[in-house]
Amino acid sequence: MKAEVLSIGTELLLGEILDTNAQYLSRELQNLGFDLYHRVTVGDNVERLRRAFESAVARADLVVSSGGLGPTSDDVTCEALARALGRDLIFSEEAWKTVKAQLDVRGRSPCDSDRKQALLVWGATFVPNRVGTAPGQVVTDGGKTVVLLPGPPREMIPMWEKDVRPVIQRNFPGLKPLFSRHLRLVGIPEALVQEAIGDLFRSPDPTVAPYVGPGEVRVRIATRDSDERRAREKVAQVEETIRRKLGKYIYGSDGDDLESVVGNLLARKGLSLAVAESCTGGLLSHRISSVPGASRYFKMGLIAYSPGVKRECLSVRKEDVERGDAVNPEVAVSMARGIRALAAADIGLSTTGFAGPSGGAPGAPVGTVYIGLVWPDGDYVEVQRYPGDRSSVISRGTQAALALLWRFLTRGLEE
Ligand code: AMP
Ligand code: MG
Repeated sequence: MKAEVLSIGTELLLGEILDTNAQYLSRELQNLGFDLYHRVTVGDNVERLRRAFESAVARADLVVSSGGLGPTSDDVTCEALARALGRDLIFSEEAWKTVKAQLDVRGRSPCDSDRKQALLVWGATFVPNRVGTAPGQVVTDGGKTVVLLPGPPREMIPMWEKDVRPVIQRNFPGLKPLFSRHLRLVGIPEALVQEAIGDLFRSPDPTVAPYVGPGEVRVRIATRDSDERRAREKVAQVEETIRRKLGKYIYGSDGDDLESVVGNLLARKGLSLAVAESCTGGLLSHRISSVPGASRYFKMGLIAYSPGVKRECLSVRKEDVERGDAVNPEVAVSMARGIRALAAADIGLSTTGFAGPSGGAPGAPVGTVYIGLVWPDGDYVEVQRYPGDRSSVISRGTQAALALLWRFLTRGLEE
C-alpha cells in the first residue's frame, strides 16, 4: 500500500518554518507499513493544491495532508480537495458544535469566518480537534483515503494518534509494519563500515543501511513483517553478523547515547571521573551530568579556558601553555592529570583545541582537538582534526572525548 504526505502552507515553501509534520507523518506511515514514494509541499493556492491532491490520489492509496484548515482566506485545503474529487462542500452542524466548544474554552464568541472550519467535503467524516478549533477530515473515494489534518503540530499529532491512526489501521488491515533497529558505532569511519559489511547493504530483506550521525556512524537494520516475533528474529540474525565483524565499535543501539553508556560503565566498575575542558567549553561536563544518576561517578568539571587557569588550577607547566596557544598533547595530558588530582577521581579527561574560526598554530590548524585521559597507572592522548564551523568542532570534540573514554572502559587503548 502506498501513502503520500502533503504539506500545505506558503510559509513552508518560503523556508520560514521547518516542515516537521512531514517528518513525523513519514515516519508514522512507514512504521505502519505503507510505502512512501512521494512527499509534496504546496503553498496556499487552491488550484495548485487541487492538482496536488489529484496527483497524490492517483499515485497513492492513502494521502495525509496537514495545514490550511483554519478560518482565514488562505486556508483552502478543504476547497481544493472538494474540487479535486468533484464534490461539494457542506456545512456540518456537528462539526460546528465542536468548533464553538473550542472557541468557548478560549472565551471567544464565534464570528462568520469561524464557520468555514465546519465546512466538510461531501461524504467526509469529521475528526474533532481537542486542542485547537479546526477539525480534521477523513474522506474516502473509490478505494482511496484522504486525511486532512490541521497544521500546528500540537494539534496535528494528538489528532493523528488518538483519532486517525486507529481508523487507518482498521481500514488497511493487511499492512506489514516496519520493524527496525539502529546500531550506533564510534571510532570507525563510514568507509570502513562499508568495507566490513558492504555486502549486507545489498540484502533485500532485512535491508541494512549505514548513515552518518554527529560524530558516529549508524547502521539501520529493517524488515517489514506482520508477525513481530519473526521480524525481531530476522533483524537479530543480521545484527549478530554485524556484531561479529564490527562489535568492538558498537556502543549502543536505538535511543542509547554515549554519555549514558559511559556512565553505566563507570558506575558498574565503581570508577569516578573528573573533566577539565578548554575548547569544548563545558559541553562535555554538560553531557556527562545530563544522565540521571551521574553523581555516582562524576566528581567535577572545570572549564579551564585561559592559560593562567590551566597553570594555576591544573598545574600545567608554564612552557607547555605557552606553546601553540596551549593546544598540544602535553597540555591535554597535564589538564587531565591536574583535574584528576584536584577532584581525587579515578579518571581524568580533558580537551584542548582550536574551535575556530580564527586561531590555530603551526602543526595544529583550526579544528585540531587534543583529548587527554589519565588513570591510576597510565595516560593517553588522542588528536583529532575536524573540518567545519566552531559549533561542529565543539560537538565533535565532545563526542570524541566520550568515545575515547568508552573505548578505554570497554577494550583498552592499545591498537
Ligand atoms: P495552518 O493550519 O496551515 O494555518 O498552519 C498553522 C501553523 O501550523 C503554521 O503557521 C505553522 O506554524 C504550523 N504548521 C503548519 N504546517 C506545518 C508543518 N508541515 N510542519 C510544522 N508546522 C506546521
Ligand atoms: Mg496555513
